[in-house]
Amino acid sequence: MEVVNSVRKTIWFNIGFFAVTTVLGVIGWPLYAWHHGVSGAELALFVFYVWATGLGITVGYHRLFAHTTYKANPVIRFLLLFFGAAAFEQTALDWASQHRDHHRYVDTDMDPYSIKKGFFYAHIGWLIFWKHKIHYENALDLQKDPMVMHQHKNYLLWCAGAGIVTPVLIGACFGHALGAFLLAVCLRITFVYHSTFCINSVCHMFGKSTYDVNATAKDHWLVALVTFGEGYHNFHHKFPVDYRNGIRWFDFDPSKWLIRGMAFLGLVHELKRTSKFRILEARLAGEKASTSHLLQGFAMQPFVAKPLEQLQAQYVLVRQRLEGWEDAVRNYRVLVKEQMAAHSEEIKLAAGQKIREAHEHFQQAYGQWRELISLPPLQLQLSLSAIPA
Ligand SMILES: [Zn+2]
Ligand SMILES: [Zn+2]
Repeated sequence: MEVVNSVRKTIWFNIGFFAVTTVLGVIGWPLYAWHHGVSGAELALFVFYVWATGLGITVGYHRLFAHTTYKANPVIRFLLLFFGAAAFEQTALDWASQHRDHHRYVDTDMDPYSIKKGFFYAHIGWLIFWKHKIHYENALDLQKDPMVMHQHKNYLLWCAGAGIVTPVLIGACFGHALGAFLLAVCLRITFVYHSTFCINSVCHMFGKSTYDVNATAKDHWLVALVTFGEGYHNFHHKFPVDYRNGIRWFDFDPSKWLIRGMAFLGLVHELKRTSKFRILEARLAGEKASTSHLLQGFAMQPFVAKPLEQLQAQYVLVRQRLEGWEDAVRNYRVLVKEQMAAHSEEIKLAAGQKIREAHEHFQQAYGQWRELISLPPLQLQLSLSAIPA
C-alpha cells in the first residue's frame, strides 16, 4: 500500500533561513571584507567550520547514524552530533530517518528527495515547497540513543550553540565577531548546504553507473571534491553499509580517511567493509550490462548476435576465475579456523600458493576483459566476432 509521504506546502521559515544566510554570506561578507579587511583567523575559522560541519554530516549523520557503518565512542558521537547540528540540516534522527527512506524507496514518491521529481526538487525544492512525514519507526535504534534524543529534543539549543554562538565567540576572541558571523556562520552554512544538497541532486544525475546500471545514483570524482567524498554515490547505493564511498585508495573520500584515522587511534571500531569479491562481481555485471547496451545500440542486426554471445562467454570466464579465487581464499580461511597448528606447514603453504595462482588467473582474464570492453564499438564488435567460439 502506498502511503502519502509528503504534501505540497510552502515552508516560509526554511525559505527565510536560506535567503537570510545566503544574502548575508554571499553579499554581506564581501562588503564587510571590503571595508574591514579579512584576517587569517577569520579565514581559518571559516575553513575549519566548513570541514567540521561538512564531515559532521557525512561522517556523522550519514555514515554513522543513518547507515551505522561503524561504531564510535561517546566523545566522537558527541562531536559528530555537535558539528552535525551546526550545519543546520535538521536533527540527526530526522536526517537519518529520511535518508533511510531515500535508500529504501529510492526514485519513488516515498523517496523524500527523489531525483525523478527533477534536479531542483532533489536539491532544495523538497525542503522549501514540500512538507514530509517522517517515519520514525525506521530509526528505532537511534531512538534508544540518549545523546541522539537529547539533540533531537533540544535541537534549537544544539544548532544555535554549535552553529552560531561558538563560532561568533571564537571570532570575538580575535576581535572579529561580525566577520566571524558573516563568514564562518552565514557563508559557511550556505556552502555546506549546497555541498550536501549536491549529493541528492548532482550525485543522482552526473557520472558513471559503475556498480549498478539501473540506479540513478552515479559515481563522479569531481562531485566527490565538493561533497566530502560522497561523489561515489553509485557504489554507496549498491553497498550502503560500507563505511567507504570511494573504495580505491586514491579516490577522494576524506570522510573515509577520517573514519579510518579515528579507527587507527582507537576512537571508532567495527568498520563495515563490503567483500572485494562482491564489489568485483557488481563491477563486472555493470561493465557487461553497459557494454551489451553499447553493442545493441551500435551494431546492425544480424551482426550483433555473435559479439553478444562472445561477450557473454568472456563474462562467464571472468566470473568463473573470480569464483575460483574466492574459493581459494575461503579454503585458506577454513584451514586457519580449524587450527592451523594441527596442519603441517606444507598444507598451509600449498593453500597460500593456490590463492596466488587463482588470483593470477583472475587477473589475466580480467585484464583481457577490460581490454575488450574499452574498445570503441566497431572495434569491439570486430574483436568479439573474431574470437573462436
Ligand atoms: Zn542517494
Ligand atoms: Zn546513504
